Amino acid sequence: MTTTENIPFLDLITPHVELEAELLEAAQRALRTGYFIGGPEVKRFEDDFAAYCDAKLCVGVGSGTDALRLTYLALGIGCGDIVITVPHTFIATTESISQTGARVQFVDIDEATYNLSPSALRRFLQTKCRIDPATKTTTCIATGERVKAVVPVHIYGQMADMDAIQEIADEYGLLVIEDAAQAHGAKYFSTKQNRWLTAGSIGVAGCFSFYPGKNLGACGEAGAVTTADEELAARIRMYRDHGQRKKYYHDVEGYNGRLDAIQAGMLSVKLKRMPLWTEQRQQAAERYNALLADVDVLTPFEPAHSKAVYHLYVIRTKNRDGLMQYLAEREIGTGIHYPIPLHLQVAYTGHFYKAGDFPIAEAVATEIVSLPMFPHITAEQQERVSAEIEEFLAKQKAPFEG
Ligand SMILES: *Cc1c(COP(=O)(O)O)cnc(C)c1O
Repeated sequence: MTTTENIPFLDLITPHVELEAELLEAAQRALRTGYFIGGPEVKRFEDDFAAYCDAKLCVGVGSGTDALRLTYLALGIGCGDIVITVPHTFIATTESISQTGARVQFVDIDEATYNLSPSALRRFLQTKCRIDPATKTTTCIATGERVKAVVPVHIYGQMADMDAIQEIADEYGLLVIEDAAQAHGAKYFSTKQNRWLTAGSIGVAGCFSFYPGKNLGACGEAGAVTTADEELAARIRMYRDHGQRKKYYHDVEGYNGRLDAIQAGMLSVKLKRMPLWTEQRQQAAERYNALLADVDVLTPFEPAHSKAVYHLYVIRTKNRDGLMQYLAEREIGTGIHYPIPLHLQVAYTGHFYKAGDFPIAEAVATEIVSLPMFPHITAEQQERVSAEIEEFLAKQKAPFEG
């Protein structure tokens, strides 16, 4: 028997132990200056994160969900509007749409990348919508609702096909909002612009989460919006702070959705490690790709136009549940992201979607499994994960052998 040391799905301890002194200093600065909400730490992190994303501006908020919600509100999305996105994502992408009063419209994903399928988007707009060429506004034929925006989710850290999505959005007068909650620092080669672009710098806004398990994680809740639009940034700042343009002058009813100074200070410490951590994730992904090359599972597809940051390393296999159980018995952590496509969640029963509506998202959800992935994963750990997967598959092929 080789090593049976447990391999976690995610290691949230090692990076924090490594940085403990610096992280504690960030907390201490808040204690000693009395800046807990807002202040110089927040401003510094916002500037540094904007630069990291090649974005002009960044607005720190309370969570990734706030980033999405406050962006939709600041863009004037609300009752009578439709926002298009994918069912293969975390529910924060869509609950934040519904919470503005707008309606979520799903379109299916691309089977190779698991990202929003530009052809499914076009098909929906061509068959279910009408565009008024004079005003370049698009409405849903059945309901008359205005189709306002499309939200590609850069799932698992790989960017959606932004050139194709932007082109369709321009044609139909839709805003593009990037859900970049899993894609800090991910790159996309834009053929149109003939250069590499960074997640969060392409759409009218990019929405990021700093939930602890994300590639850049706070030591608590935090999020941010990136944008090049000064007026939009100002409106998001207003919405994050009770709708006030200045203290006690409320233009609208807003939210309590601010980034706090301790989280901002800790995020600044961790942001400096992002180039290294991202490279480590990419190397770990390459190592898995090599280890699993001759194993009968589908490894992630990374198109030439993409530099993914591997928030998750997701493989596809027929007997997914059996494999997960086998690995769990050997103390190897795995996850499913996500087991039930959003259109089939109980929360969306009122939306009249049914099984079969988005067949690719549905098929993928039954076969995906996320393997242990974090910057500090070792080659030995990955070799063991791969060996156990191989062993499981071999046993499956010869079920009656001793
Ligand atoms: C994590 C996540 C969010 C929500 O972020 P929180 O910080 O947890 O609110 C939104 N969208 C996606 C795709 C996510 O993975």
